[in-house]
Amino acid sequence: MAQSGLVERALAITPTQLFIGGQWRPAESGRTFPVMNPATEEKLADVANGGSEDALAALDAASQAQLMWAETSPRTRSEILRRAFDLLIGHKDEIATLITAEMGKPMADALSEVNYGAEFLRWFAEEAVRISGRTTVAPEGILQIFTAQRPVGPSLLITPWNFPLAMATRKVGPALAAGCTAILKPASLTPLTSLAFVRILEEAGVPAGVVNIVTSSSASSISAPLLADPRLRKLSFTGSTEVGQTLLQQSAQNVLRTSMELGGCAPFIVFDDADIDQAVRSAVIAKTRSNGEACNAANTFYVQRGVAEEFTAGFAKAFAGLQVGEGLTPGVDLGPLVSSGQRQDVARMVDEAADLGAERRTGGVVPDGVGFFYPPTVLGDVPEGTPILTQEIFGPVAPVTVFDDEDEVVRRANSTPFGLAGYLHTSDMSRVMRLAARLEVGMLSVNTGPISNAAAPFGGMKLSGMGREGGTEGISEYLECQYIGLPR
Ligand code: NAD
Repeated sequence: MAQSGLVERALAITPTQLFIGGQWRPAESGRTFPVMNPATEEKLADVANGGSEDALAALDAASQAQLMWAETSPRTRSEILRRAFDLLIGHKDEIATLITAEMGKPMADALSEVNYGAEFLRWFAEEAVRISGRTTVAPEGILQIFTAQRPVGPSLLITPWNFPLAMATRKVGPALAAGCTAILKPASLTPLTSLAFVRILEEAGVPAGVVNIVTSSSASSISAPLLADPRLRKLSFTGSTEVGQTLLQQSAQNVLRTSMELGGCAPFIVFDDADIDQAVRSAVIAKTRSNGEACNAANTFYVQRGVAEEFTAGFAKAFAGLQVGEGLTPGVDLGPLVSSGQRQDVARMVDEAADLGAERRTGGVVPDGVGFFYPPTVLGDVPEGTPILTQEIFGPVAPVTVFDDEDEVVRRANSTPFGLAGYLHTSDMSRVMRLAARLEVGMLSVNTGPISNAAAPFGGMKLSGMGREGGTEGISEYLECQYIGLPR
């Protein structure tokens, strides 16, 4: 009961309507859709089910506010973002409760998402006052060259369900810092956290029309009319590669600036010379953060033959000791997967791998009962060519496969169409730099777990996307370079 009291308190401060032009209001159609708790399979709330007319109303508001926001002083934009950071941290328990209730990750993990997510507001508050251009003289000496950075314009921000807060702050923070207005479209499985975040932005003093949120059970009825409207100038999308490809095609019609944070299939590579205890600790974190439903989660464990058994045994023991349950219960390490469909996909990959010769060292069986739980699972001796090694798993399942030398592991790690994150465990620093140059990944974590940080550029190569979020790179996704030439 204490747990449901926590959820009730969080829901009490969470809007369930659309926020357009500074007003909370129902969908034009009057329709709503339910949001469920994946641990209990109970309904948490009914949320406004926006449609194309709501999407276009949000674009009207964002377009009308664009010039005013672009001309607002950088210091004012910065201070609003900084206030939003403080408010988010002040409400961290309620926001983390919402994340756990609608997405499933344990409370401690949700709290670390709030801290991580809030950092994007603080970081971009600091970046807002550092936007600059350059000046030079043309080689012929006849022209002075000035560059300026202008906001791209109204931006559509589409986010996934696995980090319902951090994926929103990672986009809204730089958009607002750069002087762009925004329409946020959160995932239909997890809209509550984003709605609470937008309420915080309102309280922080974001002017009407600068941030709008349209929740919907039909994502394309929001995105399609917006992408077809020339007033929209930017799409930032985080989600699956398949949907990203469709949206890129639709963005071509108005030649939109696009940022794409798509799927991953991160290799986790352990060499014979690594500290194996450290590698196991990192593996557990890199595989359980966000219940394994993270684009940068370690996906495939490549372990050099000499330490394969030691690593696999240590990993299986650590995984077997994890506590699985409803994320609001103290002491729980792993919550449910986000939906029954997600669990089915994970279970199918594990069963297929077992049929092809992988050994279930721990876990690997769907439990009975309420909630979309799946046990932490280590698969040993997974043969090369087994599909699970090159597919995005998105669950607490770790397939371990053996390799012999550097050339082999580089070839196999690069053999997926993805290129987001990679993890490397070795004590040989020259090997680190050699592999960094050869592995096709946007982010390489060395002798540690996930390395996400608001001050670092997050993003991928190949089908994992384009553009970077966070770091000094993040704000440039929302800025257009303008060149001004004057005679000398
Ligand atoms: P998804 O692609 O199904 O959905 C992402 C968002 O797109 C949601 O808001 C959804 O409503 C919307 N959407 C779905 N279909 C759409 C369509 N036809 N038109 C317009 N919008 C549409 O992805 P998901 O299941 O929510 O998230 C999981 C995926 O996201 C994984 O592949 C994961 O790797 C990826 N991801 C990537 C990053 C990154 O930074 N690279 C971060 C988190 C998640």
